[in-house]
Amino acid sequence: MEENIIISNLNDFIFCPRSIYFHNLYSTNDSSLYHTTVQQKGRLAHENIDEKKYSTKKTILQGIDIYSEELGVIGKIDLFDTEKKELIERKRKIIKLYEGYYLQLYAQYFCLKEMGYKVEKIGFYSLSDNKKFPVELPSEKEKEELLKILTQMRNFNLEDKHFSQNVKKCRMCIYKELCDYYKDDE
Ligand code: SF4
Repeated sequence: MEENIIISNLNDFIFCPRSIYFHNLYSTNDSSLYHTTVQQKGRLAHENIDEKKYSTKKTILQGIDIYSEELGVIGKIDLFDTEKKELIERKRKIIKLYEGYYLQLYAQYFCLKEMGYKVEKIGFYSLSDNKKFPVELPSEKEKEELLKILTQMRNFNLEDKHFSQNVKKCRMCIYKELCDYYKDDE
């Protein structure tokens, strides 16, 4: 049986497939050793989520474990309002909605559906400026795209000699000090 993919790794994989290796390697250690300030703040926002500091309303599910057998993924949701049937992923500050964000939200949506929840609305919420970003429910096309990326993740080989890094991403990468493939010239 194939190993389940952790939903939060989708964003890392889209940023750079190699970053998952470092993410998993250091996730059990002190993240302050390599996380930038911005990312630390983002993590703090998520710690509040994991510690369920947001709401005590029984209709709001927070940080619950989710899975999908069909996709082969596991993870956690941020918030699901069972009354409004709305799934929300909060971020500290959203400047741009990246592809990885969408893929994570879609994966959460498909997990909830498979687990028997009725989800009618999905979206993001930017905590620092109080902005909501509604997202259309994913269709079969988005599901196929998600499955394609998950297959790429399963097949990715860290030793692949043909791997070519994106220099712009390398410059922003929090793992650049650790990575042999770091490149900063075009
Ligand atoms: S330094 Fe570059 S190649 Fe290495 S993980 Fe970061 S983005 Fe990827």
